[in-house]
Amino acid sequence: MNAFGRGFDSRRLHHHPTMRFFRIVRPAAAALAAVLLFAAAPPARAQEPALRTVVIDPGHGGLESGAKGRFGNLEKDITLAVSLKLKALIEKGMDFEVVLTRDRDVDVSIENRSAIANNHKASLFISVHANGAVQKKAAGSETFFLSLNATDEETRRLAYLENNSSDLQSRIDPSTDDDLMMILWDMAQNAYIKESSRLAELVQGELDAMLGTRNRGIKQAPFKVLTGVACPAVLVETAFISNPDEEQKLASDDFQNKVAEAVYRGLARYLRKGE
Ligand SMILES: [Zn+2]
Repeated sequence: MNAFGRGFDSRRLHHHPTMRFFRIVRPAAAALAAVLLFAAAPPARAQEPALRTVVIDPGHGGLESGAKGRFGNLEKDITLAVSLKLKALIEKGMDFEVVLTRDRDVDVSIENRSAIANNHKASLFISVHANGAVQKKAAGSETFFLSLNATDEETRRLAYLENNSSDLQSRIDPSTDDDLMMILWDMAQNAYIKESSRLAELVQGELDAMLGTRNRGIKQAPFKVLTGVACPAVLVETAFISNPDEEQKLASDDFQNKVAEAVYRGLARYLRKGE
């Protein structure tokens, strides 16, 4: 079927007086249209896509539980709970569509998480996690943006655990092809490092203010889930599920609300350019 619908005879249109007129003036009209288009073209900066979609990534899910607390709380449940609360806040208070990489307890590969962001042409990507450490005393929140070089040894280990926990049976030796893949993926996020770092800083600032937990600051680490994302992207380690005190906080509605509120406020400040 053509654009005019079934049974339309375009030959009749060409013989219509109005169409004959347009055939004559068409070159002039085209030139005028070109001028108008050029004049109406906004400056380059305004051509950037407007902020429309935030993708929230609840870490882990399905068979892959993430870190586990002493009281049996699983990282995957906490990340989902916090992400759903954050989604509700953004939808209520901001002019954004919110897409979750998962909205229930299912497996989603790291590659699919960034693909979901890119397919939705996300303006921002926030991956939500809860930290795990061998040291039971480790506590506090920290926000990461991507770098191939980890801030310190502890951060490098954390990135390794987060990157490979989806495939516990066959953890990849970090010295193999994996490194090359990371470098290739890194290129997508590379263009957004500055903005990602600003977003991380503002989110972390609000976490510090809201949570009353120890500020561990913003850090850089080679998190795979961030590498393929083509927009400003951060990974928030809300608190330590491996610390019994923080585990109980993380499992509470009150603390989850605070985390969501803090990330929301950080986002709001990020959107007010110039901060
Ligand atoms: Zn995690």
